[in-house]
Amino acid sequence: MHELSIAMEIVRQVTEIARQHHAERVDEVEVQVGVLRQVQEEALRMSFEAARDGTPAQSARLVVIEEPIEAECQDCGRRFAPEPDNFICPGCGQANARIVAGNDIILKSLVCQASDEAAVS
Ligand SMILES: [Zn+2]
Repeated sequence: MHELSIAMEIVRQVTEIARQHHAERVDEVEVQVGVLRQVQEEALRMSFEAARDGTPAQSARLVVIEEPIEAECQDCGRRFAPEPDNFICPGCGQANARIVAGNDIILKSLVCQASDEAAVS
C-alpha cells in the first residue's frame, strides 16, 4: 500500500517543519500529487490519519491538489498535456517528450498555529 509510505513521509516532513517554526499545532497540510503517481486520495487520507497520531499534525486538515501531467518535447520544446499512453508532440509529431510535471508528490504549504503560514515549496 504505497499511500501509507507517502503519508508517513508527508507526516515526517510536516513534523520537521512544525518544529523549525516552533508550531505547536498544524491546522492544514496542502499536498500536490502528480496524477502519474496514481495515488488514491481516499487511501492517502486514511493513511495520513493513521500516520499523524502523536505529531503536531494530529488534527490537521489534509488538502490534496491533483497535478496534471505535462510533457515537454525534446525536439521543438513545446509543452503539452499528454494522454497517459500517448506522448506524441502535437507540435512536431515526434515521440520524444520528457515528463516535466505530474510525477511528484510535493508538500505545498502548511498552516500552523504559531506562525501564519509556512511556505515550503
Ligand atoms: Zn515537438
